[in-house]
Amino acid sequence: MNHHFPLPQGGELLLRRYPRSAQHGLQAWEAADEYLINELQNHGWDTDAPLLIVNDAFGALTLALHHHKPISMTDSRISELALAANAQDNQLEPAGQSLTSLAPWTEQAPGLVLMKLPRTNAMLEYQLAYLSQIMGPETLFIAAAKAKDIHSSTLKLFERYIGDTRTSLAWKKARLVFSKRDVNKPASELPLPLSWPLEGTDFSIYNHANVFSRANLDIGARFMLQHLPSQRTGNIVDLGCGNGVLGLMALVQNPEATVTFVDESYMAIASAELTVSHNLPSNTARARFVVNNCLDGAAVNSAELILCNPPFHQQQAITDHIAWQMFVDAKRALSPDGELWVVANRHLDYHIKLKRLFGNQTVVASNHKFVIFKAIKTS
Ligand code: SAM
Repeated sequence: MNHHFPLPQGGELLLRRYPRSAQHGLQAWEAADEYLINELQNHGWDTDAPLLIVNDAFGALTLALHHHKPISMTDSRISELALAANAQDNQLEPAGQSLTSLAPWTEQAPGLVLMKLPRTNAMLEYQLAYLSQIMGPETLFIAAAKAKDIHSSTLKLFERYIGDTRTSLAWKKARLVFSKRDVNKPASELPLPLSWPLEGTDFSIYNHANVFSRANLDIGARFMLQHLPSQRTGNIVDLGCGNGVLGLMALVQNPEATVTFVDESYMAIASAELTVSHNLPSNTARARFVVNNCLDGAAVNSAELILCNPPFHQQQAITDHIAWQMFVDAKRALSPDGELWVVANRHLDYHIKLKRLFGNQTVVASNHKFVIFKAIKTS
């Protein structure tokens, strides 16, 4: 596995994915990152104005341009941790600052904006609207992605929110997008979170742009809701909470319990907070919201029940290492006799993992597509 990211001025960076335990033969950057960094050699920009880097997955762009003190904006706690870990490996002080995807911009217009395309058009629209508010006519703006992920609909969004847009030739199956802020276009309002009614209830579920299953109820979550434990006490964790739909109903069905909502996405946690505060305003004291990589640092014996609809990809790569990390962390955080409930597609082998880790697992329910497993922390 190549961990050496070549720099155009010579030299290289040592770059690894995060968490460190889960490289899975995957590189911490892609051709689009290299293309972007190399292309910059052909452009000048106002280096006295801030440099903004958006959606840098593991820190390749931010560290390659470290000497310009970039501001790195991301929705992902894992990306922030990856950047910090890779900075340390390269003996680079974190020179710039980090901004979460919902943070306001308080600087002058950036001289340069570099963006890796986000996974969904909803997030792209949100970020382009944001950029339309902060970019000036002199801002150099270059986005990059795999060529297959840049469609004419993608370019139309750049035209709509920013202005004139053109693309580069493809290089190693990556492509660049150049867009110039048209000052005759008014800045766009940030898109509001989507909300949709939760079937069988009077509740609405709130979803910021980057949230999983943003426009409707995930079918795995629907199955879990049909079997959600009730009348429990202590602390319930909604691990990988997304919009907070499982934790919301856990609050309703377990009026004596507290619920901790955990996700690595800042927009997910903000969405879960909206979901709870709009639907259960008098129960917010029973809810906690934590941006975290799985249950990093969670105390032993800090949860009686953990509910989990695990993710199955990281930065487009299909992987089960996050699910595995969630199960390991869950086992550590649970109190004796505490339970981990996992909903998963039938074809995944989570029952084997749970059995290996907890020494037990039972099937709570199953249908043609999903299974809910329960594993108990025995002393
Ligand atoms: N619980 C929601 C539901 O059932 O609709 C969302 C489930 S979705 C399959 C998985 C969630 O895990 C996503 O919201 C994702 O952001 C989150 N996630 C991914 N990696 C994570 C990590 N390392 N730590 C915490 N959450 C993570």
